[in-house]
Formats: sequence, C-alpha cells, structure tokens
Amino acid sequence: MAQLLDHRDGPRDECGVFGIFAPGHDVARLAYFALFALQHRGQESAGIATATHHGNIIALRDQGLVSQVFDENALRSLAGDMAIGHVRYSTTGASDWENAQPIVRDDNRMLALAHNGNLINAVELHGELREAGVPFRSTSDSEIIAALLATHRAESIQDAVANVLSRLRGAFSTVVLTDDAVVAFRDPHGLRPLSIGRIDGLDGSPAWCVASESCAFDMIGATLVRDVAPGEVVTLSASGIESRVVAGGERRAFCVFEYIYFARPDSRMGGTVLQAARGRMGEILWREAPVEADVVIPVPDSGNAAARGLARAAGLPADDGFIKNRYVARTFIQPGQELRRQGVRMKFNPVPEVVAGKRLVVVDDSIVRGTTDRQIVQMLRDAGAAEVHLRISAPPIKHPCHYGIDMSTREEMIAHGRTVQQVCAELGADSLHYLSLEGLYEALSAGRSEHCDACFSGEYPLAGTDGANGKFALARELPLVRA
Ligand code: SF4
Repeated sequence: MAQLLDHRDGPRDECGVFGIFAPGHDVARLAYFALFALQHRGQESAGIATATHHGNIIALRDQGLVSQVFDENALRSLAGDMAIGHVRYSTTGASDWENAQPIVRDDNRMLALAHNGNLINAVELHGELREAGVPFRSTSDSEIIAALLATHRAESIQDAVANVLSRLRGAFSTVVLTDDAVVAFRDPHGLRPLSIGRIDGLDGSPAWCVASESCAFDMIGATLVRDVAPGEVVTLSASGIESRVVAGGERRAFCVFEYIYFARPDSRMGGTVLQAARGRMGEILWREAPVEADVVIPVPDSGNAAARGLARAAGLPADDGFIKNRYVARTFIQPGQELRRQGVRMKFNPVPEVVAGKRLVVVDDSIVRGTTDRQIVQMLRDAGAAEVHLRISAPPIKHPCHYGIDMSTREEMIAHGRTVQQVCAELGADSLHYLSLEGLYEALSAGRSEHCDACFSGEYPLAGTDGANGKFALARELPLVRA
C-alpha cells in the first residue's frame, strides 16, 4: 500500500469554517465555493451541513479536498436555507471519517458544528461529560463543544452558547447550525479569525454569512462587514443578523502568525490587507539586516510578498530563483529510497540561469524544523549560487502552539536552544536574519498587547497553558485531535 509523506516542515493551520443563512439561495453551492477559497486552511477532510427552516439537518463530510468530497449530485442532495462548512487538517494521525466536520449531534437539541481552534481544557471537559454518560463518536475536541451545546437545557441555542462559552478554555472560532439559525461565536481572546460577510440580494434584502477569512466572501460575491468580536455570539436567522457579547474584558490575543503565513494574502484581518503587511515585513527585514547582494528570490509562494517588499527597500531586482510544482498536494506518495534524497526538489526546482554566480537574498516566511531551508540552501549552492543570505519574515519559532496550530515539539524546532549564528551554520547559509518581534508589529501597525506571539516569545496569553507538551498529552490521553 502506498504510504503518504507529509512534505512540508512548516507550521500547519488546522481548520477553516463557514456559515450562511440565505433562504432562496443555493446555500450548499455557496458553502462549497467558500470552502474552496479556504482550502489552504485544511486539506484532510471537508464537510457541509444544511438545514431547512424547522426541518432536518443533512450533513455530508469525508476525507479529501473540497473538490474530491463534493460533486454535483452531492451538492444537490444538500437542500436547505442555511449551511455551515468546514475544512480540516489533523495533527495526531486520527484523520478518520468520524473526525471530519461538521459534527452532528442529536441530544436535547439537534445541531451541526464546525470549529477552528484547540481547547486547552479538553481532557477535563471530556471526563466530566463521559462521567455524566454523554457518548462520543469522535476523538475531536470539537465534539466536546458540540456535546456541551447539544445536551444543554437552555431553551435557546444562544443561551446555551452563552453558558457553555464560559466553560471553554482555549481557541474556538465556531459555527453552529440548528433548524432555524446559524450561530457563530469566537473565544474571548479572539485567538483564531472569524469575520462577517453580507450578500446583497436582487430584491434588496441582504443575506449574511461568516467565514474564517474574507477571501471566502470574495469567492461568493459577499462583502466583508467586520470581524466577529472576541466573546461575541452572532446569530444569522430569518430575523437578519443579531449580536450578543457574552464574554469580554479578557486580554485580546489574535494569532500574529495568521498575518505572517496562515491566511491567504488576499484576505483582510483586523483591517489589515495581508499582502501589503507581508510586503512591509520584507521592507523592515532589509532595514534590519542589509547585505551586499545581486538578486532577491522568494521561497514560493509564502515568501513572495515579503521578498517583493525586501527587494523594493533594497533597490535590488527580484526574480524567480525557484519554480514550484503546484500539483504537489500537502501529502503525496512517498518517493522511495532512491528518490528520497531529492527531498524538496519535488516541490521546488532552482533555476540555474537566475542563481548561478549570484549573491542571493532568499526570503522565506518562517522556519520550524529547518529541513526544507537546509535543502533549499544546498540546492542553490548546487545550482551555482555564489552566496546565500537567508532572510525570514518572522522571528525564530521556539515554542509550540497550543491554540490550534501544529508546530512540532520544542525539541524539533531548529531555533530552540540555538543562537541565530548556530542556526545559520546548521542550514549552511552565508548569513541569516529573522524579523524582530518589534519589526513584525511595526509592519502590522499594531501592538503586542492585542496579539498572541507565544510561539516566538513563549508568553502564552491564557494562564495555565502548558508551555511544554500539553497538546501531546491531550492527544495521547483520548487521543484528541484538534480542528
Ligand atoms: S502560539 Fe503562535 S501560532 Fe499559536 S496562536 Fe499564538 S501566535 Fe498563533
């Protein structure tokens, strides 16, 4: 049987969510296209649930890309006035069907739920629910949220959310589908993104939707209205859109890595256009560490915008030093021993005509384990590069994420316990500079106090976050997977 090999050694985002209430529209098709735009947030499974007003919930979910899970017949079977959708990337190996989302539960109330984030008190909540006799089908912490809401005795789903939200600790941007509404809510720290969009109908009455990123709105002709506020519960229903803030006063802690890498560059978050912010990161990177060089090349595609900004600031030409194979999915068939030494060549191939004899500034978005960057430096040298100067548009990653991003363990991180000079030597580069934390926030025109940067600083915004191996302990115990 063919083995699957994960080729990327960078951080991995773990989910994208979407929700829409739009009677008269083909909500399943709109959800499909929105998930297609969010595909970069998760490639292992995809799912859509729809409901008709006071009718049943229908859900279809499976492992694979959005385009593999759904076809015309599948979309036609998902009739309804409202829908939620999910794309998922799993981190603990439990990527089976039961862990695909939306999760459907029928306890005291019937609902479907899709979640992006990670609960840091999942083991405790799971234990309580199991003791109370609540059955679980999946090993996902998302089902814990679904079970808490579905078993809650509150009359309305909004009251249930308000009660349950205070029991959840961690990151959760969540959409819930009932038989009469789509309810979206975000954790009180606002760790993971969630935005509201509006579709103007021909009759002048708007329809409303929510999504992890605004690029999903662009795909379906919706316009970005605003972000869902931390601790806010938004209801999309026949009454239009209603908002209720049920938690607040917590330290805001939006994931700063969304700006650097996770989100699509054409998305807008917190009023920031990501493509422009990444360009500014490149400009500041050059200001912090200029070097005598001939040409700037990005590690495509995540280094593209920062490389252009750096080249602009440096007055140097930017060129494509690597050609990327765009048909390599996140996982591909393992090449076997003979081809394995080719490593990342499956994905990136250097262009000798661009790099030979040149002093190169190579721009990448981040380094986790360093496996890819080590091979990139070697490939450039093999192609005749005279010098290779690495510039990284993020600070060194030294600490694991416990809020929904797979970052490897601390010990696997190349910057953990090493100086920048030592990392440079490990990678075989002539020089290496990481964007400073101050430079990062300058590029974002934002302050640290409203963001999480724990993977760089080790300062976790939620008290009690296990700074060592919390997520792996969780995974072993249940095992739990995160969304
Ligand atoms: S630890 Fe890093 S990746 Fe995780 S939420 Fe904080 S900034 Fe984002």
